[in-house]
Amino acid sequence: MNYDVVVSGAGPAGSKCAEVIAKAGYKVALIEKDINYRKPCGGGLPRASIYKYYPQLRKLDLVKKNAILMFSADHHKLEHSYKDSEDNPIVIDRLEFDNLVRNVAVEAGAELFDKNISYDFIYKDQKRVGIRTKTPLGVKEYLANIIIIADGMSSKLANKSGLRGKWKPLEIGIGKVEILEGHNNLNERCTYFFFKEYGYNWIFPIDKQKFNIGLITYYESNLKYNLNNLFKEFLHEVRNKNLLLEKDYKVIWSASFPEPATGVLEKSLYGDNIILIGDAAGFVAPISGEGIHGAIVSGQVAGETSIGAIEKEDFTVNSLKEFKKHPKIRKIIRMFKFQHKFVNFIYENEGENINKAFKMAEESSEFKQIIINTFIFGQTPPKDFISQIKGMN
Ligand SMILES: Cc1cc2nc3c(=O)[nH]c(=O)nc-3n(C[C@H](O)[C@H](O)[C@H](O)COP(=O)(O)OP(=O)(O)OC[C@H]3O[C@@H](n4cnc5c(N)ncnc54)[C@H](O)[C@@H]3O)c2cc1C
Repeated sequence: MNYDVVVSGAGPAGSKCAEVIAKAGYKVALIEKDINYRKPCGGGLPRASIYKYYPQLRKLDLVKKNAILMFSADHHKLEHSYKDSEDNPIVIDRLEFDNLVRNVAVEAGAELFDKNISYDFIYKDQKRVGIRTKTPLGVKEYLANIIIIADGMSSKLANKSGLRGKWKPLEIGIGKVEILEGHNNLNERCTYFFFKEYGYNWIFPIDKQKFNIGLITYYESNLKYNLNNLFKEFLHEVRNKNLLLEKDYKVIWSASFPEPATGVLEKSLYGDNIILIGDAAGFVAPISGEGIHGAIVSGQVAGETSIGAIEKEDFTVNSLKEFKKHPKIRKIIRMFKFQHKFVNFIYENEGENINKAFKMAEESSEFKQIIINTFIFGQTPPKDFISQIKGMN
């Protein structure tokens, strides 16, 4: 089958990319291994920007969050309230979200191929001309002028492309996440973060009864800690805080998965007729671990870049380098570079710097706002922020 573009992976990155290309009237194949797969994720979606990319979310009856509660490892507490608005952050079950974004792509004209596992490129005269998938009915081939790799953190094609190598433990975070159901004392309009020496834990209420609960370890801690033990300890801690009331909750879903943690792999973003986007290319915020927004933005820009290449009939790096030059991609690269440096600092000395920062935030409302902006909204703190924390006894 011949396409203008073939996209491997119908998560947020691939689906947005396919939607943009299909809307422009081009033929795009969207390849997915399983539309019933629930991507391991907290499902926390940032305010405002997400509705810009998916106004369809407004029609869903999702609880709008109006507060964040954050705790440091030594139990300093920091609270932030948002003004109530239509654009407040939301928490969504990823199964629901991913099927929404796929449907939007299909409605725009993308052809979705489910139960297709992409595993290799097709070559002609030593040039990549498409991808090969395994399906229940045998091997299938999708030929295209441009190949977009959007099949996530564990992408086989990203490795095979030669653009990047395999992730190392020191470059990733590893998360464990569950959706639990039962009677609880959580405020369903609030999200809860618990910063630790190894990373952070969260509870994101989905509705009154259901909540997404999880934790993520980073870098050296991936090798040092056992996720299941940490998870048990965390449940114990939040029971003690009286947030969870029952001894056993109904487990609706449980999974573990890694995520990129060093920022965008800027040297690995494109080659002749190929672009890497989303998790496959490291579009995950190193501080908050949020990657849905980066996935969608990279998907949209890769879509626009592909349209430009099709119109010029130039599928080489010359044309696809526009992806990395795009202001939105440059901004993300810059922001995540800073965040990566900052993350190294805050987890230094068994997380002592986070404890210090939270203590300072309790004492100064100005400092508290900087912490909120940095940790939650991914903003760059003032230059003397780190030295202020270092200088504190
Ligand atoms: C524990 C954890 C919690 C997180 N919490 C949050 C959060 O609260 N908010 C947030 O913004 N981000 C969060 N993230 C990050 C977020 O989940 C990812 O950044 C985001 O899903 C990336 O989107 P993507 O489209 O690039 O990749 P994915 O969402 O991984 O999508 C890839 C798609 O490709 C498909 N696929 C995979 N392999 C193949 C193959 N060989 N052939 C065909 N299809 C394939 C998959 O089924 C999937 O549909 C979290 C990550 C983890 C690990």
